[in-house]
Amino acid sequence: MAKVIILPERVANQIAAGEVIERPAAVVKELVENALDAGATRIVVEFAHAGQALIRVEDNGHGMSPEDARTALERHATSKIADAADLDRLATFGFRGEALASIASVSRFTLQTREAGQDSGTEIAVNAGRVLHARACGRPVGTRVDVEHLFEAVPARRKFLKSDRTESAHIVNCVRLYALACPAASFALYEDGRELFRSPECSSLADRVAEIYGRHEAEGLLTIDSAEPGMRLFGLIGRPGVGRATRHDLVAFVNSRPVDSRTLNGALIESYRDSIPPGRYPVAFVFFECGPAEIDVNVHPAKREVRFRREALVRGFVLRSVLGRLRESAAPAGAVGMAAAELAPLGSPGPLPGPFQAWPGGPPRPEAPAAEEPPGGQAPAGPGRGPAPQWRFLGTAHGDYTLFETPQGLVLLDRRAAHERVWYERLKDQFRSGGVPVQPLLIPVPIELNPVSSAILTDNLGFLLAHGLEITGFGRDFFRVGALPAWMEPGDAEAFVRDLVGALREGRMPGSDAELARDELARLAAAKAVRLPAQTGEAEAMALLRELFATSSPVSSPAGRPTYVELNHGELARRFQK
Ligand code: ADP
Ligand code: MG
Repeated sequence: MAKVIILPERVANQIAAGEVIERPAAVVKELVENALDAGATRIVVEFAHAGQALIRVEDNGHGMSPEDARTALERHATSKIADAADLDRLATFGFRGEALASIASVSRFTLQTREAGQDSGTEIAVNAGRVLHARACGRPVGTRVDVEHLFEAVPARRKFLKSDRTESAHIVNCVRLYALACPAASFALYEDGRELFRSPECSSLADRVAEIYGRHEAEGLLTIDSAEPGMRLFGLIGRPGVGRATRHDLVAFVNSRPVDSRTLNGALIESYRDSIPPGRYPVAFVFFECGPAEIDVNVHPAKREVRFRREALVRGFVLRSVLGRLRESAAPAGAVGMAAAELAPLGSPGPLPGPFQAWPGGPPRPEAPAAEEPPGGQAPAGPGRGPAPQWRFLGTAHGDYTLFETPQGLVLLDRRAAHERVWYERLKDQFRSGGVPVQPLLIPVPIELNPVSSAILTDNLGFLLAHGLEITGFGRDFFRVGALPAWMEPGDAEAFVRDLVGALREGRMPGSDAELARDELARLAAAKAVRLPAQTGEAEAMALLRELFATSSPVSSPAGRPTYVELNHGELARRFQK
């Protein structure tokens, strides 16, 4: 194997700033990458106390000679490139030669390694960057790194760590990503001596996804494999209609590297524009392959981003591939299924629980204003416009739009936007007063989450219980929903919980600000958890209108969409060229 050398200053400076070891999972990432770069086919990761007491990564890769082991702990020490130009031929995860030095400077660090053909191995121990000893040791060919007392000497860094659960979850997630990226290696992961997962080598990607993300997830996916000169895209993508509230299930690898690529993610999202509702994200586990010279991995300190030299080419290829595959799979039922899942009207399959009735004969109206007089100031915007009650119901179009004749012309009301505004304000009141009507479920709804989501949900169970959602954990990453707010259909509970977790994960419901968190919960529930009733007769339309004009902002939905548009006489005359 290549010799470890210290990069000349010039080269070191050509390379972007060093990795920041910001959390235990970053250590795991660097060590697992090193193991894979060393050609390991068996990788065992262990950690204790969320990675703060111990992180150990052991591999059966090619190991290091005693001299290389010593050099490898210096900054900018790498065997993977010798010059910046080598970045164009890069076939390894690492290249900056900084990880080991960085990790050893913030921990009690022990490296044991043995190269094939050597009689014994080498052990080097470092404490907070100071070498304690270097000596021969016995060990099989390969490398083991122990990182203990991480950040103990850097209390400021420790302060930024999240709960143990969250940090552990990040570690688990990281190992899962690399297991997905490299199906040819076997992986095992232990936390505090317990096996969390073990995945043998050579399983298919679908098997790996099933093992790692659950059978249920894997079953909703389509295989894709397409190639054009110099590029290939393969893996698993969601069926039309399968969408998520966040991008967390959009996992793309570029030349096996788990990355955040705007180009790839953007093209994937774009491909699903017509098959999942707006604001939802597709599910995908895809591998993009191209020549190393086609990409620049040196744009992010933790190498999480890559940039394509010919972005438009990649984008076009991904769009063509995914759209082609979706078209192929989409029976006409596909699109219908999507609409039903998102906006299922009442009467769609799924039992209605006893205590629950949604909008019997129109939206409930706690303090509906006197029928004929909505507050004038909140009437349609614009000078001289008439108040809502003078609107005459004409009919409903396409289920979604209610048409009114108004003194100024015509109004098209978006039923969903109006419904969301009404429910958003109603739910905010319920949450504020603590008066959320709850329905216990006879059969709890089971939900399996990935480890990060699971940790986040666990941290927020109290908050959700206070707002009508009773969720209990059972077993690692499994939950049961035992009771729901009365206005939610049990069939919607799982999707709603996943959306909630997404919002929590993105920090949209901060634990530190109850008011803001409740507001976001109401927004999410109004948009996702309260179904739009199917009936659209005059009585319902007028009731919705009254409700709408009793809210603080009748002209927009909580997400800021307009609730109605008005075509006034002038506009109509102009259109008809009168
Ligand atoms: P980089 O991976 O960017 O080269 P690191 O600091 O992570 O930098 O590692 C420094 C060098 O140590 C690597 O280039 C490699 O030669 C050697 N090395 C690190 N980990 C291992 C391992 N598990 N097996 C074999 N060699 C390793
Ligand atoms: Mg490395």
